[in-house]
Amino acid sequence: MDAPEQSFLREKSLAVEDQELAVGTLEDSHAAKPETDAAIQLPNKSKPDKSAVEKDREDFREAVVKTLDRLLFVHKSFDIYRGVAGLYDFGPHGRTVELNVLSLWRKCFVDEEDMMEVACTALTPEAVFNASGHVKNFTDLMVKDEVDGAFHRADHLVKSYCENRKKDPTISAENAAELDKVIAHVEDLSAEELGGVWNHCSSHEESTFSSSSPLQLDVSNFLWSKCYLRPETAQGSFCNFKDYYNLNGRKLPFAVAQVGRVFRNEISPRQGLLRTREFTLAEIEHFVHPEHKSHSKFSDVAKLEFLMFPREEQEKPGQFAKRLCLGEAVAKVRHVNSETLGYFIGRVYLFLIRLGIDKERLRFRHHLANEMAHYATDCWDAEIECSYGWIECVGIADRSDYDLRAHSEKSGHALVAQEKLAEPIEVEKLAITPEMKELGPAFKGNQKNVVEALEANLESKGEVEFYVCTLGKNVTIKKNMVSISKKMDKVSTWDFTPVVIEPSFGIGRIMYCLFEHCYSTRPSKAGDEQLIVFRFSPLVAPIKCKIFPLVKNQQFEEATKFISKELKSNGIKQDVDITGTSIGKRYARSDEIGVPFAITVDSETSVTIRERDSKDQVRVSLKEAASVVTSMAEEKMTWQDVWASFPLHSSAAADE
Ligand code: AMP
Repeated sequence: MDAPEQSFLREKSLAVEDQELAVGTLEDSHAAKPETDAAIQLPNKSKPDKSAVEKDREDFREAVVKTLDRLLFVHKSFDIYRGVAGLYDFGPHGRTVELNVLSLWRKCFVDEEDMMEVACTALTPEAVFNASGHVKNFTDLMVKDEVDGAFHRADHLVKSYCENRKKDPTISAENAAELDKVIAHVEDLSAEELGGVWNHCSSHEESTFSSSSPLQLDVSNFLWSKCYLRPETAQGSFCNFKDYYNLNGRKLPFAVAQVGRVFRNEISPRQGLLRTREFTLAEIEHFVHPEHKSHSKFSDVAKLEFLMFPREEQEKPGQFAKRLCLGEAVAKVRHVNSETLGYFIGRVYLFLIRLGIDKERLRFRHHLANEMAHYATDCWDAEIECSYGWIECVGIADRSDYDLRAHSEKSGHALVAQEKLAEPIEVEKLAITPEMKELGPAFKGNQKNVVEALEANLESKGEVEFYVCTLGKNVTIKKNMVSISKKMDKVSTWDFTPVVIEPSFGIGRIMYCLFEHCYSTRPSKAGDEQLIVFRFSPLVAPIKCKIFPLVKNQQFEEATKFISKELKSNGIKQDVDITGTSIGKRYARSDEIGVPFAITVDSETSVTIRERDSKDQVRVSLKEAASVVTSMAEEKMTWQDVWASFPLHSSAAADE
């Protein structure tokens, strides 16, 4: 159900988009200036003012954020020390919502798709991120303001410098075009190139900014050698690939899931939970044969239709996401590069709408070629619209065989799978005999790994250099450490590197969008107040049921204890509210944190169950109350089912 505020915002912003589209179309078709000017002025008095829409969005956001803070869903970390930008804590309700989101995630992916769930460390040796390309490719350049000490992203400063320069009326057309080019491509620049551009920009202006310097996530010399805080969980799953593959009976495809805290070098984070320096990431690494990327369950999702925004459409002016059939997007139009990628897009869609994300404000956007990470061959983002605009919440990427290959090469361990050949073939193989008296002192207990690594690499390269974590350095195998001979061998399998399809879920972003989509207000009974209601689905709600004894007496207390105990033993999170305030006030407090059901104990033999959104009530026997609420909390029964099966209770006076 839509919160009224949000429909209102959407209508307004759609109207602004329509108008911008109309103006853009006229400009693209080189319409006469008066006509374009008229479109800018039009349609009429009801024309929405963009700044008013922005203001509404900001007001709405402020109301949501204040509520989340007041009710301790989400608040700044270390607030007594005035907080730290980009760090947020979940209070009890927020943490319970996070656990509920993760529990549904586990059900939808780990359990229903028979995945392995693992937990790798967040601290990661430098060699891993050298191999994965993160050290080289994910270094943001930062610039310090020497006056107020604030850090800024160099690419943002370059952009705003160019935009300011363009406002100079004396600027030549040639220079303006040059500046436009920089604005359009600033994100494609390497750290080195960006540093050069920034130096050039800052030399033209008097500023208090420092020169740029790279920001990485290293925790220098934290343990025995240089370590990084991981920006993704995936690398642990890649490094352990061989063990998981063996555990899976050496069969593909299979998937490894991992949930954990990750860290990002956000230079000046704003936007609350959407851009934090530490957050929970839930990732799936689905390992699959490079030539068999079809998916046995694709037909389960092929008929789904939802908003998709293919790359080709984004490149045309004035286009927007359209409702497409997933099966067609994969099979006919080939917007999506494989059935497996398409299957996960479908599953992510089903998961997000089950959580309570409004499907009209959920779209899947194809990455433009210059947006893709260095390891990806295709990528789609699940973007959710909130007051900040369309926000990437889940990235679904085909990471190719990039990571497994990189780690095989740099670690010397062959991260490969085997496939049976139709006919055995003869191949020439190296036979390596280690000279233990040379290897022993050089590798201190790692000789076995070294020999395996040699077998994998020596044939192609002759000499091998690789990093040994326990030694914390690169080592080179010299010829005198092994004796090498060649022999013919019959083989019936061949080695290949699997490719990885990876859905990566930013749990904080999903939660923030969910908070906005579920936030609503309704007038109090007296009409003098707007009461807040979080319309969480029963699965997501932090507390499933509140129990209110109508008055304080021993019989009602016992009945309350009975229901509470039953709900607890069913694993349903409940809370008893025995405060002496009016029942209406207690309902309002319960609605505010999104509790879907409330039981009022007003007799010894029967109670009422109230549903949050409709405020309707039914009367149920004391004995049945807990099991009815349990069925609804587990979404095995709907409120409509209950409403149709039990006598209604009219108590219009109850609500505030
Ligand atoms: P990425 O690997 O950058 O595609 O990120 C994977 C997911 O993590 C994204 O889809 C976002 O949901 C989330 N994410 C990325 N950066 C941040 C951040 N700074 N704060 C919160 N969530 C983030």
